[in-house]
Amino acid sequence: MRAAVLHNYGQPMKVEEVEIDDPKPTEVKVKIAASGVCHSDYAFILGEQYWEGGMPMILGHEGAGIVEKAGSAVTTVKPGDHVVLSWIYACGNCYYCTVGKSNMCDVGRGEMVTGNTLADGTNRYHKDGKPYYHFLGISTMAEYTICDEKSVVKIDKDIPLDKAALVGCAVMTGVGAVINTAKPAAGESLAVFGSGGVGISCIQGAVLSGAYPIIAVDVKQNKLELAKQFGATHTVDASKVNAVEEIQKITGGGANYTFEAVGQPQLMRDSWDALAKCGTAVVIGGAKMGDEVSIPALDFPFTEKTIRGTGYGSARMNVDIPKLLDLYRGGKLNLDDMVTSTYPLDAVNEAFADLHAGKNLRGVLMM
Ligand SMILES: [Zn+2]
Ligand SMILES: [Zn+2]
Repeated sequence: MRAAVLHNYGQPMKVEEVEIDDPKPTEVKVKIAASGVCHSDYAFILGEQYWEGGMPMILGHEGAGIVEKAGSAVTTVKPGDHVVLSWIYACGNCYYCTVGKSNMCDVGRGEMVTGNTLADGTNRYHKDGKPYYHFLGISTMAEYTICDEKSVVKIDKDIPLDKAALVGCAVMTGVGAVINTAKPAAGESLAVFGSGGVGISCIQGAVLSGAYPIIAVDVKQNKLELAKQFGATHTVDASKVNAVEEIQKITGGGANYTFEAVGQPQLMRDSWDALAKCGTAVVIGGAKMGDEVSIPALDFPFTEKTIRGTGYGSARMNVDIPKLLDLYRGGKLNLDDMVTSTYPLDAVNEAFADLHAGKNLRGVLMM
């Protein structure tokens, strides 16, 4: 099969033929239809990754496709089923899976990620006897992937696969940060730092929750226009004004909730400063390894503010991925306008260049 392969940090990806094994008993082979181009892949390419990677690496962690083969012990999907790939494998047995926090699965966030293999610690891709590594257990920037059945979620066949792919990362992460993690009440105020794929998904989550006002903050005017189109009631151009003061002005003192969807420590601090008393700042963005955030310690007793993390939209994948696709079908979640460019697999480097230039809300590779 053909796959987009990273051989060294900072270098372009190479689209090349890679040998792929048959699925083991608990695994499936999926023919990938579409793979979203996410900033987390790009950070990995640049070597700003959050963990050490095995090379060569087949990237991609936001995808959808059709099951082609299922291992002998697979029970939840069969060949022909349409699936969204989940970059968190949820084992179902660890403490976190058991208490309904499968997005924090010990296996899905453990060895499988840091070892860049499948759950059993081995690889299914190779070339000339050399192993090729798995990105987050799903490596979606390829014609096929082999992954565990616990990394796929079956979806209805009427959902276009290029739209479904987005729910595998950006949309789940952004919408989930609002409706699963923060859960604002109707009429509570909310500000989102960053209007990329995740930030816009946050804004869509804010609309679903009935928050008001919904303030989008970005430094690019085209992104702020998009934010309005997706439901932001106010926009703040942080290249021109002080975003914290502007949010305080719009909300009459500070927002009940803020979301950091960029991954910069300074914006995490801004999202804290822009809060009202008793407000909650939710950090979504992945910063660089080693980055730290500092917060005035007296704010804790004086303001009762909270700062908290969110990962993968606090999703329980088997429940939340189909739920978001239901909302899409019902016209409550706009996925159609989020895909702003599509590319063939061969144009993978162009797709990342466009991501870096901020041209897309979401670019999608079509296999
Ligand atoms: Zn992603
Ligand atoms: Zn688990």
